[in-house]
Amino acid sequence: MVELLCGAAPPAACAAISFGAAIDHLTGTVYGSAPLWGASAEPYDLAAALRHRRPDVTWILVNDVTAALADFVSAHARDGVRRVGYLTVSSGIAMRTADLTRRQIPVDEWGLQGEVGHLPLMTRTAELAGLTCECGERDHLASVASGPGIARAAERLGITAGITGGEEDPEGTSALIRWLPGALDARDPRAQRLLYCCVEPIAHLIRTLWCVDPHLDLLGLGGGVVTGLGDHYTNELRRQLAAATSYADRGRSQRWLDDRLVCCGPDEVDGLRGAELIGRWDLGIAS
Ligand SMILES: [Zn+2]
Repeated sequence: MVELLCGAAPPAACAAISFGAAIDHLTGTVYGSAPLWGASAEPYDLAAALRHRRPDVTWILVNDVTAALADFVSAHARDGVRRVGYLTVSSGIAMRTADLTRRQIPVDEWGLQGEVGHLPLMTRTAELAGLTCECGERDHLASVASGPGIARAAERLGITAGITGGEEDPEGTSALIRWLPGALDARDPRAQRLLYCCVEPIAHLIRTLWCVDPHLDLLGLGGGVVTGLGDHYTNELRRQLAAATSYADRGRSQRWLDDRLVCCGPDEVDGLRGAELIGRWDLGIAS
C-alpha cells in the first residue's frame, strides 16, 4: 500500500486519500481493513509511513465515510444547519457527524466516530437473531442491514432457497442481488418482507439519532445498498420513519423528512472530492 501510494504521488504533490478503513483521525493510524489486507487488525500508522517515505508530499489521509460527509456537507448544508450526518449502508455500515456550529468533525480519544455498524442490532424479527457480522461477532447492526447482512437475512428467512431452487448459489449472493430489485418492482411479498426487515434497524438508528440530537438538522444516506435499491429503499425507510412508535417518537411528516433526510444517488457523493475538501477547509477533525 505504501509503495503503491508513494509511487503514484508526483514530486511535492498534495495527495488527498479517501481510505476505506477505520482510521484514528488524530494520528493516521489504520485500525484494520479486511477488504484491503485481510484479517490482520494490528494498528498500522499509514500516515506516518507515507510521510517518512515521501516527506516532499503533503499527505491528507481521511477515512472514506468522513470524506463522504465533507463532500455531502459542501453540496447540501444550507445556512443555519447545525449538525449534519452522513450514513453509509454498503458492505459495511458507518456514519459521521459534523458540527457546523464549531466547524468540526468530532472524534473520541481513539480518533474514531460513528462506527455504528458494530452496535447491537435492534430488530423485532425473531428469525434474524444470532446472525454473524463481518467482524465475527453476532447480532450487530451490520449482521442484518449491510449488503452481506441482507444476503444473510434472505438465507435465514428462507428466501434464497426459493430463488435458487434450494441449490447452493455458486456465485454467492449474486442471484439475490439480481432478483431483489425486479421482485420489489413486482411487489413480491418475500422481497418486501426482506426489505422491511433490513431497513427496520436502520430506521431505528435514525430515530435514535433524532431523539438524542434534535439539532441534527440534515442526514444524508448513501452506499451501495441505498443506491442499488434506490426508490425502494428510500420509500421503505420514509414509510417506517413516518410511523409513530411512542409519544417520544411521534412519526415524521413527509415534509419534515423532505427537509432533513437526503438519500443520495450513485456517484452523487464523492469521497475523493471530500478528502480534498478536508485538506483545504476550515472544517477540522478534533477530539
Ligand atoms: Zn460487527
